[in-house]
Amino acid sequence: MTPKEFWSHLLEKKNIVLSTHVSPDGDALGSILALGQTLAKCGNNVSYLVSDEPAPNLEWLPHVDELQLYTGTLEQSKLIAEADAIVVADTNAAHRLGRVGDAIRTAVAPKYLIDHHPAPESWFDFHLVRESASSTGELVFEVIADEVDRIDEGIATLLYTAIMTDTGSFRYSNVTARVHRIIAELMERGHLVPDDIHAALYDTKSLNRLRLTGRALDKISLLHNGLVGYLALSRSFLKEARAEKGDTEGLVNQVLSIDGVLVAVFFHEIEKGTKISFRSRGDYSVTKWAQRFGGGGHRNASGAFVRSPLDEVVPKVLESAPEFLDLAEDDNQGISAEDQDYLNELLKAKT
Ligand code: 5GP
Ligand code: MN
Repeated sequence: MTPKEFWSHLLEKKNIVLSTHVSPDGDALGSILALGQTLAKCGNNVSYLVSDEPAPNLEWLPHVDELQLYTGTLEQSKLIAEADAIVVADTNAAHRLGRVGDAIRTAVAPKYLIDHHPAPESWFDFHLVRESASSTGELVFEVIADEVDRIDEGIATLLYTAIMTDTGSFRYSNVTARVHRIIAELMERGHLVPDDIHAALYDTKSLNRLRLTGRALDKISLLHNGLVGYLALSRSFLKEARAEKGDTEGLVNQVLSIDGVLVAVFFHEIEKGTKISFRSRGDYSVTKWAQRFGGGGHRNASGAFVRSPLDEVVPKVLESAPEFLDLAEDDNQGISAEDQDYLNELLKAKT
């Protein structure tokens, strides 16, 4: 449906529940809160049900205290049962919604999807999906385009954050002139001070986190003539470095910042398994690679979670690189002896 249709549908719904993906990022939270807040200003009843708390660097977002952590209480089940519409933003799969996923997927209310990921699941009733959109926030801006007068500092800050975080501060390939025009309009309407927003998001790191980054960068390895870079952090490393939630955020982009690296993979071991982040440049798509390991995402940014320890996941993923990347024969060298040593070391560190 068009953004206008999406908006006119929602305006007619009295009780609206909004949700987004686990480990919600700036686009996820900025999008649901901006859309919900605009609807609230129009007189709709909105509730936000999410499965994870916001990361510490997003705790300052306007209206963040209105988010409800879904735990399946009677009251929350009632909210879903009595909703006239449910909006899912920035993800298109029930399992990515976390604990609240099943309740939303099986709810009787019509389900609305607003998103920029490919291949939505089939249980949504209405879609506003555009893969080429920089962010879900950009789509939310289009949805509320007829209500621009309602954009206050809070809503502008939320959409600025959504678009800024999903474009890597306006530098990924998803940035267009349109993105900058939207940002200009948000800045004017919200009287925004961008450097305050950037500082709140990115300049609140602990010294320990920065030191962790330093030690982690030391472990980056290159494969396939330097085309592929990867970094694998074991639980024991993270424990010893006293890593906190969110401390490894952005490391995958550091790998991609190496000259010549077009594909970056970051492995991060947690108790239940290994989280993988894939990033790439230009025509190198990592979506299918991530799908092979049960995940998905965009052409240049995908992810997956595998319920196995790091030392099993890393070799499996790296060995399968040639199946998913168009490597020149010269570049198809597989894992070097040095990298094999590193993997062996990882194995040892674990046991
Ligand atoms: P990140 O590496 O930042 O966790 O995720 C990058 C992108 O990959 C996300 O925006 C999301 O689209 C996708 N993604 C991450 N993890 C998963 C996952 O477990 N399953 C699916 N389907 N997509 C994921
Ligand atoms: Mn997004």
